[in-house]
Amino acid sequence: MLVRAEACGLCHSDLFVQSHDSLPKLPLTLGHEAVGVVEQLGEGVEGASIGDRLGLTFLHGACGRCEACLMSHPELCPRQQYTGFHVDGGFAEYVVARPEYCARIPAELSPVAAAPFCCAGWTAFHAVAQAESGSKSWLAVFGVGGLGQLAIQYARLNGLRVAAVDVNDDKLATAKSLGARIVVNSTTQDPVAALQRIGGVQTAVSFVGRPDVIQQAAQSLRRNGLLLLVGLDHTDFQLSLVQTVLHQVRIAGSFLGNPAELAEVMEIAARKETAIQTDTCSLDDLPDAMEDMKAGRLPGRVAVKFA
Ligand code: ZN
Ligand code: ZN
Repeated sequence: MLVRAEACGLCHSDLFVQSHDSLPKLPLTLGHEAVGVVEQLGEGVEGASIGDRLGLTFLHGACGRCEACLMSHPELCPRQQYTGFHVDGGFAEYVVARPEYCARIPAELSPVAAAPFCCAGWTAFHAVAQAESGSKSWLAVFGVGGLGQLAIQYARLNGLRVAAVDVNDDKLATAKSLGARIVVNSTTQDPVAALQRIGGVQTAVSFVGRPDVIQQAAQSLRRNGLLLLVGLDHTDFQLSLVQTVLHQVRIAGSFLGNPAELAEVMEIAARKETAIQTDTCSLDDLPDAMEDMKAGRLPGRVAVKFA
């Protein structure tokens, strides 16, 4: 189907895609947090009507036939295709998408407000859903960018206690306003020592794809804790084998989420229980916004707003 884009959010994964040495498609239009209105349906396309407002995600499509797909986990399909990677993405006035992999956008949300939930919200929600639950459980969020801010909000909705670690005091102030009980600036304070003072956290999630941050997150865990890795980069990381084994550390990657979670993310946002500051820019200003994101200068998210 052909979607006329109204807004498309900028995501760290766009920077990650941009930094790839070889891409499956060139030239390539980036962007995978697009919200727009269905303008045309291809032959035999079902699941959407002309005029519907839908949100595109990083998951452009999957095979629909494998075990993962049949279990409603297309995010685990080995033949998945990505928006703004395998196919052109949403930083364009028009974008082609498959309705069965799009989110329904609630009427309560503007296109700009909805865009960040298509990737950042969905990804953060899925990560938090894996965290050890219970009102006494601590979740440590490493990296308080858009995903981190949304993760804090989902964690609070789930009744978790939150610690937030970042290098930027403004972002830590935001984390505090969102309900983080402990905030640590890792340039002036050792986050491992700070979090081990409370006995360590049950779950630590790294939204930063850096080996040193991943090591800090791992060392902040209490025994049998869960290390969740979300932030991407072209890198490897090392952890202490002795500590991982003796402390029975569990390590998991977390990527996007399942379709039911995407729908829930939109419902929660429509109820105004979650929000993220989203500044807008024009398509012409997008390269500058990408530089700001790279440098960690964005307070929240940025979305291109189409006229
Ligand atoms: Zn993304
Ligand atoms: Zn499949």
